[in-house]
Amino acid sequence: MVYFTPGPAQLYPTVAGHLQTALDKQIFSQSHRSQAFKDLYQRADVALRALFGLPDDYAIYFTGSATEIWERSLQSLTAQNTFHLVNGSFSKKYLDHAKWLGRNAQVAEVPFGQGFYAQDLQVPAGTELLAVTQNETSSGVCMPVTDLHTLRQAFPEPLLSVDMVSGAPYAAIDFSKIDMAFFSVQKGFGLPAGLGVWLVNERCRQKAATLEGRQYTGGHYSIAALQDQYQQFQTPCTPNVLGIYLLTHVVEDMLAKGIDVIRKETEAKAQQLYSFLEESEHFAPFVSEPAHRSPTVVVANVLDKPASEVITALKAKGLVVGSGYGAFKDKQIRIANFPAIYQEKIDILVNELGIL
Ligand SMILES: *Cc1c(COP(=O)(O)O)cnc(C)c1O
Repeated sequence: MVYFTPGPAQLYPTVAGHLQTALDKQIFSQSHRSQAFKDLYQRADVALRALFGLPDDYAIYFTGSATEIWERSLQSLTAQNTFHLVNGSFSKKYLDHAKWLGRNAQVAEVPFGQGFYAQDLQVPAGTELLAVTQNETSSGVCMPVTDLHTLRQAFPEPLLSVDMVSGAPYAAIDFSKIDMAFFSVQKGFGLPAGLGVWLVNERCRQKAATLEGRQYTGGHYSIAALQDQYQQFQTPCTPNVLGIYLLTHVVEDMLAKGIDVIRKETEAKAQQLYSFLEESEHFAPFVSEPAHRSPTVVVANVLDKPASEVITALKAKGLVVGSGYGAFKDKQIRIANFPAIYQEKIDILVNELGIL
């Protein structure tokens, strides 16, 4: 089977080999307080810094999931006012977390399948955290990274928090123009689920310090606690060593291949998928604005039959695509175009879609 699902997703091709090596070396029995673990964390840190071109003031923390980072970021970085760009289910969940925590959570919302035009947005003065979902996995809408940078120019005051879960590592964000970003590893990195990665700059740590003690800031997973441990390449609790080990090695593999090569391949494969959808009589791209079409999660309307029939027919050929999200479950399919999906797999999928 080839998994074109947008998370969990097809495993990166080198995962099996790294997993076997880790088993042979008994990595998962080593203490997380050992020098061996500190060395692993440091190696992950070096690799992730290189992959994202992180400025020096960024720290890298590990959590259990991206969902956890929604909550921890709001707890650690806000006392009151948050602002959310909502255009799908994941951006809506970040907003929900702010409401659950009793924040004054304001929102700019556009219909499902649409994106934002940075120059049209207004963010209220006094906003502490501006939450943006760079790639809406539910609808296949992305925010071009240049628009993220425009947001920072227009609204320099709030901390800019970027959910890049299904955009990483493709999205070439200039991290000096945002304040924090996060992802979990079961999407674009092609790894087993259960690890969140949180990239946090000095501005965030300063803001967190001003709130520490004034309110509940996230306890043992507050930014202060994570930073305290990070300085020795340690974690507040026993971490997902399996996830960290595999992430480190897959990121090193991606660096050896070249992130520029991965980005170019992603764009070429996305182009092929969208061209097919535009020319097809049976499918159409869901996102009408080309600039907002995600290169990493391609959502297609199925025009003349229930989407479940397409999904079943593809499955019989060994190709697993995602169903539409929520109300679109039987009208759409979602196709992940992550780095683990090589060109020849896209060729096979496009061919099968063409003869359905
Ligand atoms: C999958 C996803 C999440 C949640 O990730 P978890 O690892 O399940 O917590 C958050 N945001 C986006 C955009 C996602 O695609």
